[in-house]
Amino acid sequence: MLVVRHVGALRAAVAAARARGERIGFVPTMGALHEGHLRLLDTARQHAESVVLSIFVNPLQFAPTEDLARYPRTEAADLAAAAARGTQIAFVPGVEEMYPRERRVAVVPRALADRWEGAVRPGHFEGVLTVVLKLLNLVQPDVAVFGQKDLQQATLIQAMVADLDLPMRVVVAPIVRDRDGLALSSRNRYLSDIERAAAAAIPAAMARIADAFLAGEMRASRLEAIGREVLGALPIDYLAVMSAETLAPIERAGAGDYVAAAVRVGATRLLDNHRLGDPAPIAS
Ligand code: AMP
Repeated sequence: MLVVRHVGALRAAVAAARARGERIGFVPTMGALHEGHLRLLDTARQHAESVVLSIFVNPLQFAPTEDLARYPRTEAADLAAAAARGTQIAFVPGVEEMYPRERRVAVVPRALADRWEGAVRPGHFEGVLTVVLKLLNLVQPDVAVFGQKDLQQATLIQAMVADLDLPMRVVVAPIVRDRDGLALSSRNRYLSDIERAAAAAIPAAMARIADAFLAGEMRASRLEAIGREVLGALPIDYLAVMSAETLAPIERAGAGDYVAAAVRVGATRLLDNHRLGDPAPIAS
């Protein structure tokens, strides 16, 4: 695996792969890699001969009050794991490399970013889309792979690629979960043992909602109430049934719509979601 830290070296490495006739698959991450990230690399591999991983903790998408400074950084382990998973190129730029001058232009999302994560984290998706567009322009992949774990982010990236006519395919890969169902996340390592145990209520809530929908409950208010009951005293930023296309709240759920939640466990905000009609992520 080639590790490159500069834009010029990245472009040269990708050009060499292209000259060999290889398709390029791309997986952008913020590092602290877990099995969820590694499965995205596997998915990229299914669509491309050459897989590019990026590791960049993007300051633009963190508010001043958020965890930028303490976001986990495990570069050596990340590179070893990515290499073992058949990655050809790892792009690991510093902040100066990505933002060498004052920014004059940004990608500003519209209504799709106003609710849910966007409401709790103003400016977050502008930061995400701006860095993702830069990375997509640097790598120019045939296929870029994102996780369903970050449903609103994946939906916005698909919207950006469609609305701005980016010449690539976006693949959204399913959520990878821990043994008790908790969605893997780099932020799970912030949890104490007691918090980690309490966090299991989040996938349990998704599972109860999934089963209630499969048993015929279509009223969003009922499905949401079932989820809230399972979460008990955990503070909920949002738990809502939403349209897959617009992420707007709906009153009656159909197969393919989503339930998504952001829940606080101690000082850590955890996300989860489930596509209604799919089997429950764990036994409920
Ligand atoms: P992050 O490093 O948190 O920015 O995530 C990088 C990519 O990995 C994003 O596309 C995430 O949606 C995806 N991802 C994070 N956690 C998971 C998971 N548990 N399962 C699948 N994909 C994930």
